[in-house]
Amino acid sequence: QMDARLPMSDIPELNGLGASFNRMAASLEGVEARRREVIGDMTHELRTPLTVVRGYLEELADGEIEASPEIYRRLAKETRRLERLVNDLQELSKAEAGYLPINIQRVNLRPLLESLVEKFTDQLLEDGPVLLLQCPSVLPLVLADIDRTEQVLVNLLGNAVRYTNEGSITIRVGTEASLLWIAVIDTGIGIAPENLPHVFERFWRADQSRDRHSGGTGIGLTISRRLIELQGGQIQVESELGVGSTFRFFLPLA
Ligand code: ADP
Repeated sequence: QMDARLPMSDIPELNGLGASFNRMAASLEGVEARRREVIGDMTHELRTPLTVVRGYLEELADGEIEASPEIYRRLAKETRRLERLVNDLQELSKAEAGYLPINIQRVNLRPLLESLVEKFTDQLLEDGPVLLLQCPSVLPLVLADIDRTEQVLVNLLGNAVRYTNEGSITIRVGTEASLLWIAVIDTGIGIAPENLPHVFERFWRADQSRDRHSGGTGIGLTISRRLIELQGGQIQVESELGVGSTFRFFLPLA
Protein backbone atom coordinates (compact mmCIF):
# COMPACT_ATOMS: atom_id res chain seq x y z
CA GLN A 1 0.00 0.00 0.00
CA MET A 2 1.53 3.30 -0.95
CA ASP A 3 1.07 6.45 1.05
CA ALA A 4 3.04 9.25 -0.49
CA ARG A 5 1.12 12.22 0.76
CA LEU A 6 3.17 15.31 1.76
CA PRO A 7 2.22 17.15 4.95
CA MET A 8 1.17 20.78 4.58
CA SER A 9 3.80 23.40 5.39
CA ASP A 10 3.89 26.95 6.75
CA ILE A 11 5.63 28.19 3.61
CA PRO A 12 3.02 29.03 0.91
CA GLU A 13 5.28 28.08 -2.05
CA LEU A 14 5.89 24.68 -0.54
CA ASN A 15 2.17 24.23 0.02
CA GLY A 16 1.52 24.74 -3.68
CA LEU A 17 4.17 22.17 -4.58
CA GLY A 18 2.87 19.79 -1.94
CA ALA A 19 -0.66 20.09 -3.27
CA SER A 20 0.35 19.30 -6.87
CA PHE A 21 2.51 16.42 -5.70
CA ASN A 22 -0.45 15.05 -3.75
CA ARG A 23 -2.66 15.33 -6.83
CA MET A 24 -0.10 13.37 -8.88
CA ALA A 25 0.17 10.72 -6.19
CA ALA A 26 -3.61 10.40 -6.05
CA SER A 27 -3.85 9.93 -9.82
CA LEU A 28 -1.09 7.29 -9.76
CA GLU A 29 -2.97 5.48 -7.02
CA GLY A 30 -6.00 5.53 -9.30
CA VAL A 31 -3.99 3.94 -12.14
CA GLU A 32 -2.59 1.36 -9.78
CA ALA A 33 -6.03 0.52 -8.38
CA ARG A 34 -7.41 0.13 -11.94
CA ARG A 35 -4.51 -2.12 -12.91
CA ARG A 36 -5.20 -4.38 -9.92
CA GLU A 37 -8.89 -4.42 -10.81
CA VAL A 38 -8.17 -5.41 -14.43
CA ILE A 39 -5.86 -8.23 -13.39
CA GLY A 40 -8.48 -9.43 -10.93
CA ASP A 41 -11.19 -9.43 -13.61
CA MET A 42 -8.92 -11.11 -16.15
CA THR A 43 -8.04 -13.87 -13.73
CA HIS A 44 -11.68 -14.44 -12.99
CA GLU A 45 -12.62 -14.66 -16.67
CA LEU A 46 -9.78 -17.06 -17.47
CA ARG A 47 -10.47 -19.30 -14.51
CA THR A 48 -14.01 -20.26 -15.52
CA PRO A 49 -13.18 -22.11 -18.77
CA LEU A 50 -10.01 -23.53 -17.24
CA THR A 51 -12.03 -25.05 -14.40
CA VAL A 52 -14.43 -26.65 -16.86
CA VAL A 53 -11.60 -28.12 -18.96
CA ARG A 54 -9.75 -29.42 -15.91
CA GLY A 55 -12.96 -30.95 -14.56
CA TYR A 56 -13.61 -32.92 -17.76
CA LEU A 57 -10.00 -34.04 -18.08
CA GLU A 58 -9.89 -35.30 -14.48
CA GLU A 59 -13.18 -37.14 -14.82
CA LEU A 60 -11.91 -38.71 -18.05
CA ALA A 61 -8.64 -39.70 -16.37
CA ASP A 62 -10.49 -41.27 -13.43
CA GLY A 63 -12.87 -43.12 -15.71
CA GLU A 64 -15.85 -41.28 -14.22
CA ILE A 65 -17.03 -40.28 -17.66
CA GLU A 66 -16.40 -41.87 -21.01
CA ALA A 67 -14.77 -40.07 -23.90
CA SER A 68 -17.35 -39.17 -26.50
CA PRO A 69 -17.66 -36.69 -29.36
CA GLU A 70 -19.89 -34.59 -27.10
CA ILE A 71 -17.19 -34.34 -24.39
CA TYR A 72 -14.58 -33.39 -26.96
CA ARG A 73 -16.95 -30.78 -28.39
CA ARG A 74 -17.37 -29.22 -24.95
CA LEU A 75 -13.62 -29.27 -24.35
CA ALA A 76 -13.07 -27.65 -27.73
CA LYS A 77 -15.71 -25.02 -26.98
CA GLU A 78 -14.08 -24.01 -23.69
CA THR A 79 -10.68 -23.98 -25.34
CA ARG A 80 -12.00 -21.67 -28.06
CA ARG A 81 -13.36 -19.41 -25.35
CA LEU A 82 -9.93 -19.28 -23.71
CA GLU A 83 -8.39 -18.48 -27.04
CA ARG A 84 -10.88 -15.66 -27.64
CA LEU A 85 -10.23 -14.26 -24.19
CA VAL A 86 -6.49 -14.23 -24.73
CA ASN A 87 -6.86 -12.64 -28.18
CA ASP A 88 -9.27 -10.03 -26.85
CA LEU A 89 -6.98 -9.26 -23.93
CA GLN A 90 -4.06 -8.77 -26.27
CA GLU A 91 -6.08 -6.40 -28.47
CA LEU A 92 -7.31 -4.57 -25.41
CA SER A 93 -3.86 -4.04 -23.97
CA LYS A 94 -2.54 -2.86 -27.33
CA ALA A 95 -5.48 -0.53 -27.79
CA GLU A 96 -5.12 0.93 -24.32
CA ALA A 97 -1.39 1.43 -24.66
CA GLY A 98 -2.00 3.13 -28.02
CA TYR A 99 -0.02 0.45 -29.92
CA LEU A 100 -2.66 -0.37 -32.52
CA PRO A 101 -1.43 0.79 -35.89
CA ILE A 102 -4.23 2.60 -37.70
CA ASN A 103 -4.13 2.92 -41.44
CA ILE A 104 -6.60 5.61 -42.49
CA GLN A 105 -7.61 5.63 -46.16
CA ARG A 106 -10.47 6.83 -48.33
CA VAL A 107 -12.75 3.80 -48.41
CA ASN A 108 -16.14 2.70 -49.62
CA LEU A 109 -17.63 0.59 -46.82
CA ARG A 110 -20.48 -0.91 -48.84
CA PRO A 111 -18.58 -4.00 -50.09
CA LEU A 112 -17.47 -4.70 -46.51
CA LEU A 113 -21.07 -4.44 -45.26
CA GLU A 114 -22.28 -6.79 -48.01
CA SER A 115 -19.66 -9.41 -47.24
CA LEU A 116 -20.37 -9.20 -43.50
CA VAL A 117 -24.09 -9.68 -44.11
CA GLU A 118 -23.30 -12.77 -46.14
CA LYS A 119 -20.95 -14.16 -43.48
CA PHE A 120 -23.31 -13.53 -40.56
CA THR A 121 -26.38 -14.79 -42.40
CA ASP A 122 -24.67 -18.18 -42.50
CA GLN A 123 -24.39 -18.12 -38.70
CA LEU A 124 -28.05 -17.38 -38.00
CA LEU A 125 -30.34 -20.13 -36.86
CA GLU A 126 -33.35 -20.97 -39.00
CA ASP A 127 -35.82 -19.78 -36.36
CA GLY A 128 -33.61 -16.88 -35.27
CA PRO A 129 -33.56 -13.24 -36.38
CA VAL A 130 -33.14 -12.17 -40.01
CA LEU A 131 -30.25 -9.96 -41.03
CA LEU A 132 -31.00 -6.89 -43.17
CA LEU A 133 -28.84 -4.28 -44.87
CA GLN A 134 -30.27 -0.80 -45.45
CA CYS A 135 -27.55 1.06 -47.25
CA PRO A 136 -27.63 3.55 -50.16
CA SER A 137 -26.31 1.80 -53.29
CA VAL A 138 -23.78 4.58 -53.77
CA LEU A 139 -22.09 5.26 -50.48
CA PRO A 140 -19.89 8.34 -49.97
CA LEU A 141 -16.27 7.53 -49.10
CA VAL A 142 -15.10 7.76 -45.51
CA LEU A 143 -11.68 8.29 -43.95
CA ALA A 144 -11.22 5.04 -42.06
CA ASP A 145 -9.12 1.96 -41.44
CA ILE A 146 -11.13 -0.74 -43.15
CA ASP A 147 -9.73 -3.61 -41.06
CA ARG A 148 -10.43 -1.84 -37.77
CA THR A 149 -13.91 -0.92 -38.97
CA GLU A 150 -14.52 -4.54 -39.87
CA GLN A 151 -13.36 -5.58 -36.39
CA VAL A 152 -15.89 -3.19 -34.83
CA LEU A 153 -18.72 -4.42 -37.06
CA VAL A 154 -17.86 -8.06 -36.30
CA ASN A 155 -18.08 -7.23 -32.58
CA LEU A 156 -21.38 -5.39 -32.91
CA LEU A 157 -22.93 -8.03 -35.17
CA GLY A 158 -21.62 -10.82 -32.91
CA ASN A 159 -23.32 -9.16 -29.93
CA ALA A 160 -26.53 -8.59 -31.87
CA VAL A 161 -26.61 -12.28 -32.84
CA ARG A 162 -25.74 -13.36 -29.29
CA TYR A 163 -28.41 -11.25 -27.62
CA THR A 164 -31.26 -11.57 -30.15
CA ASN A 165 -33.50 -14.62 -30.23
CA GLU A 166 -35.99 -13.49 -32.84
CA GLY A 167 -36.98 -10.57 -35.01
CA SER A 168 -34.29 -8.78 -36.96
CA ILE A 169 -30.80 -7.39 -36.97
CA THR A 170 -30.52 -4.41 -39.29
CA ILE A 171 -27.42 -2.64 -40.49
CA ARG A 172 -28.53 0.87 -41.41
CA VAL A 173 -26.24 3.45 -42.96
CA GLY A 174 -26.72 7.20 -43.28
CA THR A 175 -24.95 10.54 -43.25
CA GLU A 176 -25.21 13.48 -40.91
CA ALA A 177 -23.28 16.70 -41.56
CA SER A 178 -19.67 15.67 -42.34
CA LEU A 179 -20.09 12.17 -40.90
CA LEU A 180 -21.21 8.76 -42.04
CA TRP A 181 -22.96 6.63 -39.46
CA ILE A 182 -23.51 2.90 -39.33
CA ALA A 183 -26.08 1.51 -36.92
CA VAL A 184 -26.52 -2.12 -35.89
CA ILE A 185 -30.12 -2.36 -34.74
CA ASP A 186 -31.44 -5.49 -33.04
CA THR A 187 -34.74 -6.63 -31.57
CA GLY A 188 -33.01 -8.57 -28.80
CA ILE A 189 -33.00 -8.67 -25.00
CA GLY A 190 -32.04 -4.99 -24.69
CA ILE A 191 -30.08 -3.29 -21.93
CA ALA A 192 -31.55 -1.78 -18.75
CA PRO A 193 -31.22 2.02 -18.45
CA GLU A 194 -29.02 1.74 -15.35
CA ASN A 195 -26.66 -0.57 -17.26
CA LEU A 196 -26.34 1.54 -20.40
CA PRO A 197 -23.55 3.79 -19.03
CA HIS A 198 -21.42 0.69 -18.34
CA VAL A 199 -21.56 -1.29 -21.58
CA PHE A 200 -18.30 0.16 -22.94
CA GLU A 201 -16.39 -0.54 -19.70
CA ARG A 202 -13.95 -3.41 -19.78
CA PHE A 203 -15.17 -6.76 -18.52
CA TRP A 204 -18.60 -5.31 -17.86
CA ARG A 205 -21.43 -7.72 -18.66
CA ALA A 206 -25.09 -7.46 -17.73
CA ASP A 207 -26.21 -10.09 -15.22
CA GLN A 208 -28.58 -11.64 -17.72
CA SER A 209 -25.71 -12.06 -20.23
CA ARG A 210 -23.59 -13.77 -17.60
CA ASP A 211 -26.47 -16.08 -16.79
CA ARG A 212 -26.85 -17.02 -20.43
CA HIS A 213 -23.30 -18.41 -20.59
CA SER A 214 -23.32 -16.77 -23.96
CA GLY A 215 -19.60 -16.99 -24.48
CA GLY A 216 -19.10 -13.23 -24.18
CA THR A 217 -15.99 -11.75 -22.63
CA GLY A 218 -17.08 -8.21 -21.77
CA ILE A 219 -14.18 -6.81 -23.77
CA GLY A 220 -15.60 -6.44 -27.27
CA LEU A 221 -17.30 -3.08 -26.80
CA THR A 222 -14.32 -1.61 -24.96
CA ILE A 223 -12.09 -2.47 -27.92
CA SER A 224 -14.71 -1.29 -30.40
CA ARG A 225 -14.98 2.12 -28.79
CA ARG A 226 -11.22 2.48 -28.71
CA LEU A 227 -10.94 1.48 -32.39
CA ILE A 228 -13.57 4.01 -33.43
CA GLU A 229 -11.94 6.76 -31.37
CA LEU A 230 -8.55 5.97 -32.89
CA GLN A 231 -10.17 6.68 -36.28
CA GLY A 232 -11.48 10.01 -35.06
CA GLY A 233 -15.04 8.73 -34.69
CA GLN A 234 -17.56 8.11 -31.96
CA ILE A 235 -19.81 5.26 -30.89
CA GLN A 236 -23.07 5.41 -28.96
CA VAL A 237 -25.81 3.11 -27.77
CA GLU A 238 -29.55 3.34 -27.29
CA SER A 239 -31.52 0.47 -25.87
CA GLU A 240 -34.72 -0.60 -24.22
CA LEU A 241 -35.00 -3.71 -22.11
CA GLY A 242 -36.98 -6.40 -23.90
CA VAL A 243 -37.25 -4.28 -27.07
CA GLY A 244 -33.76 -4.11 -28.53
CA SER A 245 -30.54 -2.19 -28.87
CA THR A 246 -29.00 0.16 -31.39
CA PHE A 247 -25.24 0.63 -31.54
CA ARG A 248 -24.27 3.48 -33.86
CA PHE A 249 -20.83 4.71 -34.81
CA PHE A 250 -19.73 7.75 -36.79
CA LEU A 251 -16.76 8.13 -39.12
CA PRO A 252 -15.59 11.25 -40.95
CA LEU A 253 -16.61 11.53 -44.61
CA ALA A 254 -13.67 11.82 -46.99
P1 ADP B 1 -19.48 -9.57 -24.47
O1 ADP B 1 -18.33 -10.32 -25.04
O2 ADP B 1 -19.87 -10.02 -23.09
O3 ADP B 1 -20.64 -9.46 -25.39
P2 ADP B 1 -19.14 -6.74 -24.92
O4 ADP B 1 -18.12 -5.77 -24.42
O5 ADP B 1 -19.25 -6.90 -26.38
O6 ADP B 1 -18.84 -8.11 -24.21
O7 ADP B 1 -20.54 -6.34 -24.32
C1 ADP B 1 -20.67 -6.04 -22.93
C2 ADP B 1 -22.05 -6.36 -22.41
O8 ADP B 1 -23.01 -5.46 -22.98
C3 ADP B 1 -22.56 -7.74 -22.80
O9 ADP B 1 -22.10 -8.73 -21.91
C4 ADP B 1 -24.06 -7.54 -22.72
O10 ADP B 1 -24.50 -7.61 -21.37
C5 ADP B 1 -24.24 -6.12 -23.20
N1 ADP B 1 -24.55 -6.06 -24.65
C6 ADP B 1 -23.71 -5.79 -25.66
N2 ADP B 1 -24.33 -5.79 -26.86
C7 ADP B 1 -25.62 -6.07 -26.59
C8 ADP B 1 -26.82 -6.21 -27.41
N3 ADP B 1 -26.78 -6.06 -28.75
N4 ADP B 1 -27.98 -6.50 -26.77
C9 ADP B 1 -28.03 -6.64 -25.43
N5 ADP B 1 -26.96 -6.53 -24.61
C10 ADP B 1 -25.78 -6.24 -25.18
